[in-house]
Amino acid sequence: MKVFKFGGASLRDAEAVRNVREILNRFPGERICVVISAMGKTTNALEQVADAWINQDVGVFSLLSGLENFHLEISSELGGAGSLAVKSIIRDIRLLLQSAPPSLYDAAYDQIVSNGELLSTAIVSEFLSREGVPNQLLDARKLIITSEAFRNARISWDETTRRILAAFDEANPEYEAPLYITQGFIGCSSSGHPVTLGREGSDFSAAIFAYALDAGEMIIWKDVPGVLNADPRYFDDTVLLDRISYRDAIELAYFGASVIHPKTIQPLQNKNIPLYVKSFEKPEEKGTLIHSFEDQPLNTPCYIVKKDQVLVSVSPNDFSFIAEDGLHTIFGLLSHMGIRINLMQNSAISFSICIDDHPDKLNRLFKALSGDFRVKYNRGLELITIRYYNKKITDKIVNKRPVLLEQKSRLTVQLVVESQKSK
Ligand code: ADP
Ligand code: ASP
Ligand code: MG
Repeated sequence: MKVFKFGGASLRDAEAVRNVREILNRFPGERICVVISAMGKTTNALEQVADAWINQDVGVFSLLSGLENFHLEISSELGGAGSLAVKSIIRDIRLLLQSAPPSLYDAAYDQIVSNGELLSTAIVSEFLSREGVPNQLLDARKLIITSEAFRNARISWDETTRRILAAFDEANPEYEAPLYITQGFIGCSSSGHPVTLGREGSDFSAAIFAYALDAGEMIIWKDVPGVLNADPRYFDDTVLLDRISYRDAIELAYFGASVIHPKTIQPLQNKNIPLYVKSFEKPEEKGTLIHSFEDQPLNTPCYIVKKDQVLVSVSPNDFSFIAEDGLHTIFGLLSHMGIRINLMQNSAISFSICIDDHPDKLNRLFKALSGDFRVKYNRGLELITIRYYNKKITDKIVNKRPVLLEQKSRLTVQLVVESQKSK
């Protein structure tokens, strides 16, 4: 069994959907589970619908009509594939929008935003069937079972594995064309509420299927030739990494290399499943292979720039040691507010953290800290992470900017600097 994942860029229009069929044609007779994201920028558009619903904005219905038209146009260019399903999904959303949203923002968000993948899979599955590529459409909400942490649901691994295996067994193994289509990004809580797994989570969904099915390999099809040593949107002189260890891949993804969702690697590593990242435009090329190459360090420096960072320094008002009681309070608040630390450092009486700039979360944090601590902060920063660093590349990327915080380990250097205008 192979698991494929197609993202938004590989499904942005009818031409792209035809290309998915071309790619599948390259694997005749193989059992493949195809995990699909929402088309193009649908998830962003659904986020706007969710916001408008929660704020009871009357514009919500026209936003939804825009999405309906976008999908129906693609469907019509594909001979009407999936059009009935699209209309029915949109009708259900419209009905939902006529009711009051649940009081919990994140629950309302997941009810709406989870529909993008239902729309895309309906079109792709029917298109493939009509093109003579029989396939079975499986509903990921019946297979991926999670906690009720809306927008960032945690997987119930045993139950999910059991359900996936049962669904794939039931779907006749002798099935004429052993192709299964399912949704990325979405699942269902054990009490039956739709959930999402976090933005860009379809790579992770594919890894969950690969894990449960003991897949022989997983391929994610991207708009880049594979994993490069830096994001080609911001750097010209990137190089393709042809093989990477799981360890390097997880570190790069965790620090913000957005080509792979950071949660994707662990399930694959646990079962030693190879992960290929390949170009959907040039599927014949080798791309990048991520596998257990732990004894083969890269010889190319890899760099990641995380923008919109804030450096927050916290000191106890009473000049006490921060490590004794302060850290406990600060970590408690950060965890409660769902704020992830990208970098941290402490001295005797101060603790500094570099975090993403979410103004409302920051204001709540500052307020909560203000009784016991003095808080200073700097905005408009970037966090640069360089793995396999050397002085030349570090100097080049820092580009003479003052460094506000620096941390080095044997393989990785991280630096917080002021932002510079990107190209
Ligand atoms: P998907 O269509 O699967 O959602 P994404 O847009 O999430 O794909 O990921 C692909 C994008 O990731 C590329 O277009 C590229 O700009 C970006 N990217 C960031 N870092 C890297 C990297 N190190 N190597 C390749 N691409 C990268
Ligand atoms: N459609 C979801 C998103 O845009 C999940 C994904 O594409 O991976 O975040
Ligand atoms: Mg994406």
